[in-house]
Amino acid sequence: MPYVISSRCLDHLNLMCLDICPVQCVHVEEGVDRMCFIDPDGCIDCGACVPACPDSAIYLMEELPPGETRFAEINALYFRDQQAARALLA
Ligand code: SF4
Repeated sequence: MPYVISSRCLDHLNLMCLDICPVQCVHVEEGVDRMCFIDPDGCIDCGACVPACPDSAIYLMEELPPGETRFAEINALYFRDQQAARALLA
């Protein structure tokens, strides 16, 4: 079960998760994206990004708070269709 970046990342973009991820599965296009995204097919569930995020934005998929569950699909969608994922955050 991969980790998921939630709405807490929106317009914060601290980017600490990008540096700490051992498999480089966190992605963002700076200047375009409003948040970072975790590739569910690349995440090895190590959990290293969770304490690194100053906004506490990262959750195990099954532990997403109510109201945040749509971010599991938004994170995954980003790696199939970036524009579609961005549109869901507009
Ligand atoms: Fe990367 Fe580990 Fe976070 Fe997955 S849980 S995004 S592998 S740092």
